[in-house]
Amino acid sequence: MKLVTYETSGDFQLGVLDENAQYVLNLSRSGLPNDMVTLIEMGPAALEKIKAAVEAAPRSAWLALTEVTLTAPIRRPRRNILCVGKNYHSHAKEFHRSGFDSSAGADEIPALPIIFSKAPTSVIGPNVAIPSYLDDTGTTDYEGELGVIIGKGGRGISKQAAMDHVFGFTIINDVTARQLQRDHKQWFIGKSIDGFCPMGPWLVTRDEITNLPDIELRTFVNDELRQKAKLADLIFDIPTIIETISRRTTLEPGDIIATGTPDGVGIGFTPPRFLKPRDTVRIEIDKLGVLHNVVG
Ligand code: MG
Repeated sequence: MKLVTYETSGDFQLGVLDENAQYVLNLSRSGLPNDMVTLIEMGPAALEKIKAAVEAAPRSAWLALTEVTLTAPIRRPRRNILCVGKNYHSHAKEFHRSGFDSSAGADEIPALPIIFSKAPTSVIGPNVAIPSYLDDTGTTDYEGELGVIIGKGGRGISKQAAMDHVFGFTIINDVTARQLQRDHKQWFIGKSIDGFCPMGPWLVTRDEITNLPDIELRTFVNDELRQKAKLADLIFDIPTIIETISRRTTLEPGDIIATGTPDGVGIGFTPPRFLKPRDTVRIEIDKLGVLHNVVG
């Protein structure tokens, strides 16, 4: 099931897409909330209600997707987006070599997951311009990532139980001001600039993704392929990440975890290839769609 948040005449609505992702059915008018996190909090009952709404809807109730403006599926997260740093073998080596990794220490591959966060105000939707002009260091870089959306919350979630706590997935661009990431040591400032977390185009429920390691992520800048990796290359898989974060800290419904980026980011090149105004960034993840943003 593909769920969207969209805007019509100033109002935000929840919708579900048809199988071909060409039409959207308004869910807020079927007795469901107009906020994705409230929907997620309803648990499995929400998905049953959506199925019933789809079955009951006449053909005329479906809008062409081209007629609505999609926002990020979770337009304004209630809490910071949780992120994993250096979580692909290939990128950990690339970042270590780049000179921008002030957290590096001696090791390329981290022994334990590196967790940081991005402010909720960094989230923007598909097709919205990434405000690189807010990064006065001119070192804006892209990071294509799989985003995990938590369904049932909890503390002390084991690896074995972790996937039962996943509501679904989306695509995230963990946009980063590299010089700020390096100079401030902690990564929050360089990664929390307003608009530096494009997300979308929709949320895909967990049942649609059957074999995570085979899922491939690709990032294109101006149609040039820069990143290409399968989730099998993750250093710490999703259950390990959830177990690690929730060991002492409660996860809540609607929490978002960006799982890290593979190699091929701008600082992986010599000299680095930072984003410039009018560049386009397109992130594709199998079964999750395409997240497209221009650089502003
Ligand atoms: Mg990242």
